[in-house]
Amino acid sequence: MSEELQEALNLAGDAVTTDSDGAVRLVGSECGDCQKNVFPPSDVCPECMSENLSPIKLSAEGKLYSWSVVHAAPKGWNLPFIAAYVDLPEDVRVFAHIVDADPDTLEMEMSVKAQIATLGSDESGAPFESFAFTPVQKGDS
Ligand SMILES: [Zn+2]
Repeated sequence: MSEELQEALNLAGDAVTTDSDGAVRLVGSECGDCQKNVFPPSDVCPECMSENLSPIKLSAEGKLYSWSVVHAAPKGWNLPFIAAYVDLPEDVRVFAHIVDADPDTLEMEMSVKAQIATLGSDESGAPFESFAFTPVQKGDS
């Protein structure tokens, strides 16, 4: 794993991990009482208020639910960017940026996969990285 990727993972905290093959995986919380999955990770279940939650590694791939191109945002973000909701198989809807994509080619329900991307820069001009999703290319698995 590259030093930059490791740094990005540290920035994203407990919410992101990688498989041994380098695939980026989000980590949510699973409720031990009602089995609801949540992302980002939480200490309390939003469904039943249980505190019996444990980490769950979410699928790397999901389906694009909706998106919007953002042209105006606070200083620091790379503009324009694509803000989207992605549905993961664990029944979790994740808010994230879509990167490396032409908005005109996006389609509802298309497969997207998690990766680490540079989304902007902080006050000192250093790149800010976090998780994002990118369309799965045909022939890519
Ligand atoms: Zn619950």
